[in-house]
Amino acid sequence: MKRVAIVGAAGRMGRMLVRMVRSGSTPGLELSGAVDVPGNPEIGRDAGLVAGVPELGVAVSADLGAAARGADVAVDFSGHEAVLANAAVLAEAGVAWVLGTTGLSAEELAAVKKAAERVPVVMAPNMSLGINLLLTLLEEAAGALRGRGYDVEIVERHHRRKKDSPSGTALALGEAVARGYEWALDEVSVHGRGGLVGERPAEQIGFHAVRGGDIVGDHTVLFAADGECIEFSHRATSREAFARGALQAADWAVGRAAGLYTMRDVLGV
Ligand code: NAD
Repeated sequence: MKRVAIVGAAGRMGRMLVRMVRSGSTPGLELSGAVDVPGNPEIGRDAGLVAGVPELGVAVSADLGAAARGADVAVDFSGHEAVLANAAVLAEAGVAWVLGTTGLSAEELAAVKKAAERVPVVMAPNMSLGINLLLTLLEEAAGALRGRGYDVEIVERHHRRKKDSPSGTALALGEAVARGYEWALDEVSVHGRGGLVGERPAEQIGFHAVRGGDIVGDHTVLFAADGECIEFSHRATSREAFARGALQAADWAVGRAAGLYTMRDVLGV
């Protein structure tokens, strides 16, 4: 059995991951550790009870080092503030790292890359099969539509508690389009529009972030031209889609060479 430590175990994704490891959604994985931030009210409670299932005999702890020493892989859906410390601890322990956390700063991203020199790291802003397939399809579509007058706008919708904007997934979709259009995303991105913005330039990708209620995650990429509009949409109806992908990544990462991998490596799409 491959031993998995869940980081951010008391969070929405963490609890889903604990439930799915328990249910055996990816055979061959067992829960060896559950970690959350010091001061979280769930510290010390059984991770199963926290996740709404029977006791699993693994208490939620604030000690990532100890959890890492007893694990083959850490599945981390915590917060970007955790990334610098987690990178150092997991690289030191030699533990594979599946990183789902989004909203990383340049410094945090550099720490992930440094850790990937020592351990296998799978990082993806969206671990669902659907979105990773969509990335491939979008790049191909953008390659076909390049220079033919199709304006690209990306609309994402998430629950009211989401901390970063636009979503990491929306940015990844934008990157896929930019690759197909042969543009540099940071040179053409615009985030929301307000006031007298004037005519839309052709070389632009617009991002729009909607926040409200309990929306798990919807993304639509529009290619709008004179006379037609093509839309690519993905709707996550449950966090299960992300958790399933993350656990597949955990299974895949154990025993790999050090390096930075994406879900497209894991899923082969
Ligand atoms: P959440 O706020 O419900 O849970 C985060 C948990 O991490 C909390 O319990 C928090 O206490 C804990 N935490 C914070 N700092 C920590 C630290 N230093 N060490 C250990 N635990 C720490 O959030 P969520 O909705 O579960 O999302 C978590 C992250 O995962 C976000 O960045 C979100 O954008 C991302 N996410 C990614 C995917 C994907 O497929 N890659 C899918 C959903 C969410």
